[in-house]
Amino acid sequence: MTADSSNQADQLTFVSPVDRYPSISPPEQHQEEPGIESEMVPQPDIGEFSYRGTGRLIGRKALVTGGDSGIGAATAIAFAREGADVAITYLPAEESDAQEVARIISESGRRAVTIPGDLVDPTFCSQLVGLAVAELGGLDILVNNAGKQLAREGLADIPDEQMMQTFEANIFAMFRVTRAALPHLQAGSTIINTTSIQAYQPSPTLLDYASTKAAINNFSKGLAEELAPKGIRVNAVAPGPIWTVLQPSEGQPTEDLPSFGKSTGLGRAGQPTELAPAYVFLASPESSYVVGATLHVNGGQPTP
Ligand code: NAD
Ligand code: MG
Repeated sequence: MTADSSNQADQLTFVSPVDRYPSISPPEQHQEEPGIESEMVPQPDIGEFSYRGTGRLIGRKALVTGGDSGIGAATAIAFAREGADVAITYLPAEESDAQEVARIISESGRRAVTIPGDLVDPTFCSQLVGLAVAELGGLDILVNNAGKQLAREGLADIPDEQMMQTFEANIFAMFRVTRAALPHLQAGSTIINTTSIQAYQPSPTLLDYASTKAAINNFSKGLAEELAPKGIRVNAVAPGPIWTVLQPSEGQPTEDLPSFGKSTGLGRAGQPTELAPAYVFLASPESSYVVGATLHVNGGQPTP
């Protein structure tokens, strides 16, 4: 599940960002959501051989939802390389991807905790925090990253069930997980929410998804104001087109996959590990004066 080259350059090596990764043209492929990363063609780079830690999160304890694959996996691996112990949550069907990420975290010398469950279930949202706190011995970093994205032709094609589940998984779960985490967070803790370019440039094929991403931005800014006086910083990361299993499991129309990401300034899709430094920055004390911000990692697309 990791782009396989042990001689790959790490994120601190100077290269042109145009050429750091090839401009991929993924073949048309389809999986049932949530999709299994190890079955994607080509394999995305989640950083196993390309993320080098520099000691920025030593001893921190992090919880990353949707940490089994894609951006969440890349973030979990980067956190571990920076010295944090990491709990990841994911859907039970994703156990094989989750175990692979747990292996990479463990081989990085840090503690990996795996917590399967469905974030659409409010009970799981509060239970998972208790489990993570018990296993990690506390919590300093919460990354609300899990997300559901199903492309449909337009509004008339979005069934009620999809609309409800997308809002449950993407925004209501974020409220619930964060609410459950609050009593455990001390001054210096950070919350990072994954929003999207879709919050600014909504695609007509993603009306429900894009609406949740706009809500996540708004939630992040409001909550940042509430928690800043307590020394808890809340920020968001807004990815552009990143080659993750979200895309071939109905996140995009299948025929659009070969050109995925090519309309960005860099002319290529991003790889999950290219998101990781943004999360590390927002999690670490070096971003002490960054509060209520949205950090765009989108390969060059105009955003406010
Ligand atoms: P991904 O499929 O690898 O990760 C999403 C994860 O969300 C899944 O692994 C799954 O564990 C979790 N998830 C989904 N529904 C869930 C549910 N009901 N209960 C529990 N977990 C659930 O894809 P990704 O692209 O890495 O997605 C991570 C985040 O990045 C998402 O919030 C997504 O919206 C956002 N994002 C992705 C892109 C992109 O181009 N890939 C762009 C902008 C934003
Ligand atoms: Mg997954």
